[in-house]
Amino acid sequence: MTEPFALLFAWFDQISGSAVGASGRALEAGAGPDAILEALAGAVGLAVLGGLDEVPEDRRRALMKAGRRALLAGGAGGPDESADDAEDRRWAAELARAGLQALGGAAPDALGGPADPLHAPDGRLSAATLGNLDGFALASLALHVAHCTPCRRRAAVLRMASAPAAAPLRVAAASAVAMRQPETGRLIATFDAPAAELVLFDDDGTRMLAVYAEASAPVRLLGDGLETAEMLAGYWLGSLARDHTRVVGTLHVGDEVSEVDIDLEALAD
Ligand SMILES: [Zn+2]
Repeated sequence: MTEPFALLFAWFDQISGSAVGASGRALEAGAGPDAILEALAGAVGLAVLGGLDEVPEDRRRALMKAGRRALLAGGAGGPDESADDAEDRRWAAELARAGLQALGGAAPDALGGPADPLHAPDGRLSAATLGNLDGFALASLALHVAHCTPCRRRAAVLRMASAPAAAPLRVAAASAVAMRQPETGRLIATFDAPAAELVLFDDDGTRMLAVYAEASAPVRLLGDGLETAEMLAGYWLGSLARDHTRVVGTLHVGDEVSEVDIDLEALAD
């Protein structure tokens, strides 16, 4: 499996597999429409965060077929249905329809449906990539991410950090380079060109800086007091000399270069 969000992929494999059954005849096999709609919504998550391409074609087709039937079957609530329940049902159906679009090959930014109105907090985005949200919550978060540049970049950074096959460009001795998880540090700058984030880590008083770039290209942060510690495609880690309180230099991602000037003491706590 080449998909970096392996747990998310495994989650989707499980819920879509139980929704459509081995034969793909879900409704006959007893899977309820809710389970099928949730699996459809889950497809929105994979379409946006990555991995839908790796879902086998026959699984995708079976899910689309079962999904269309479930949407038709789930069209009306009972006479006692409350207004809230009716609203929830409509919301779930819209997310499932976005899943049908995704399974049919629609681009993430072309998907319609009820997106979360707010930016995804880091913990929730991480939970999504670990397969820890239900399909509907995942879908509404993913629809936000699909239409939000900062959240998309954040998701790309998480994807990079969790990629199992990041190719070492330069590795000290024989030790394996483990990319630091950006959530364990502090985001101090974002760059648009090249698209990258700069994260500060405090290692018992030694300040380490990591760059996570959207492009899978060689990354370097060059400047006074900066020393490279590790490099991977799309990733650079280095230390800042103790007597330096500013990060002044140039950020290189592939052929793209950006000036960097950050006063660490001026950062708000
Ligand atoms: Zn956002």
